[in-house]
Amino acid sequence: MQMPPPDPSVLSRRQAIIDALNAALPDAVIQDPAETRAYECDALSAYRCAPLAVVLPRSTDEVSRLLRLCHDLRVPVVPRGAGTSLAGGSMPTADAVVIGLSRMTDVLEISAPDRLVRVQAGRTNLSVSGAVEGLGFFYAPDPSSQLACAIGGNIAMNSGGAHCLKYGVTTNNLLGVTLVLMDGSVVELGGPMGEGPGLDLLGVVCGSEGQLGIVTEATLRILPRPAGARPALIGFDKAETAGACVAAIIRAGIIPVAIEFMDSPCIKATEAFAHAGYPDCEALLIVEVEGTPPEIDEQLALIRDIARRFDPVEFRESGSDDESRRIWLGRKSAFGAMGQMGDYICLDGTIPVTALPRVLAGIGELSRQYGLAVANVFHAGDGNMHPLIIYDANAPGDLDRAEDLGADILRLCVEVGGCLTGEHGVGIEKRDLMSVQFDPADLEAQMRVKDAFDPHWLLNAAKVFPLDVSAPRRDRRLNRTADAA
Ligand SMILES: Cc1cc2nc3c(=O)[nH]c(=O)nc-3n(C[C@H](O)[C@H](O)[C@H](O)COP(=O)(O)OP(=O)(O)OC[C@H]3O[C@@H](n4cnc5c(N)ncnc54)[C@H](O)[C@@H]3O)c2cc1C
Repeated sequence: MQMPPPDPSVLSRRQAIIDALNAALPDAVIQDPAETRAYECDALSAYRCAPLAVVLPRSTDEVSRLLRLCHDLRVPVVPRGAGTSLAGGSMPTADAVVIGLSRMTDVLEISAPDRLVRVQAGRTNLSVSGAVEGLGFFYAPDPSSQLACAIGGNIAMNSGGAHCLKYGVTTNNLLGVTLVLMDGSVVELGGPMGEGPGLDLLGVVCGSEGQLGIVTEATLRILPRPAGARPALIGFDKAETAGACVAAIIRAGIIPVAIEFMDSPCIKATEAFAHAGYPDCEALLIVEVEGTPPEIDEQLALIRDIARRFDPVEFRESGSDDESRRIWLGRKSAFGAMGQMGDYICLDGTIPVTALPRVLAGIGELSRQYGLAVANVFHAGDGNMHPLIIYDANAPGDLDRAEDLGADILRLCVEVGGCLTGEHGVGIEKRDLMSVQFDPADLEAQMRVKDAFDPHWLLNAAKVFPLDVSAPRRDRRLNRTADAA
């Protein structure tokens, strides 16, 4: 993975920059290489780089002061939430100051009548639901990393989760943000009532991967907890049949709250790890519906009828809280379980649901061609696939092969009318594949949006755009940096 070389004129001013950061925010700067190690990478841990320094502000005002300082000194900045990005979005460059939001975890406002909660951006996703559960509410987007990942990171990546088939992803549950621009100015986008008049800049910022500004506060939609929920587990003897069953459920107009898919390598790994009691089959679906008991019965009866048409090897409807917990146990442990099989790259392509059988067959074929195992676990209901490519980080050339296989799988997703990312973002991982999905005019239009928010290309500038395409803009910044030195 290529990264642009660090700006020598920033590196040569390292101590002066750190002194200026310390003067601006005493007790918030981390500069000792032993302590900055924790910030060298995110969950795409195959790639790492020590940052110039890390700063942990406590308020919007402190973020504003830091950004103004870095702007005036022309120092690159990488925003960071909890560092769980799977796309390398929060990996620093050697000339960058990491601004981490982990100290900004306050709940600022809860309004049950207006169905909203306002939090600082470093608050973890799960603890947002925790703050409102006593009132009978929850925050819907539920990434599997929700115990750790922060709301600011969720907004930057437009994150989703198992229950997003029914409730949508972050953008569908976000009402407003406080955003600090690179020059230190503070803007409010959206608000308690959601979108205001004029351009939908909130929609532009959600999913912008730390390219446009730092989110310091967020107003989020909360929802009343449903009366109840019940999952069913359906096993199949072929992955393609499971894919066809998903398409049939969606076609029938039923919107379960989640449809999760796991294939045989993933089922075997999770069984060895979590002992959830899954059947020995080629693929399984977990379909969860919610509502009152009669509503649940009605939806599950329809799903059972559809599933029968595909001759399942097992249809297991949960009859108790304990059975529901066991049905979800394997799925929730899947990523940890796959870690026991070896190193893996977790992809994030999204496809039309109807293309699932074709893409699953294509992934199987590519896996054989490259000689690398691929395990599939994903949110099948909304076509968001997470093929996990298993490789050995210690075997020379294996990582490169795994990345090439991943690129071919993502090309296949685009070919069938899908896209490169559903929820994990582009980061450094898919940066150079952006040209597969977007033509030069599309990329130019997207970069002009960044020009408008961050004219000197200081914010997270080695991410999202292919390096050769963004080079003229980043070179322009380097020339200016030389002037500022
Ligand atoms: C085991 C595991 C399971 C996962 N499951 C899911 C899943 O189900 N669904 C899903 O969507 N993702 C999932 N992820 C990916 C990851 O958790 C999400 O992308 C998450 O939103 C990242 O949040 P974070 O706080 O860790 O952000 P970071 O990793 O710190 O940053 C991610 C990006 O956001 C930017 N950023 C961070 N904070 C801010 C801010 N305040 N303002 C502006 N930009 C900011 C960073 O610069 C970076 O580009 C998973 C990750 C792991 C490790």
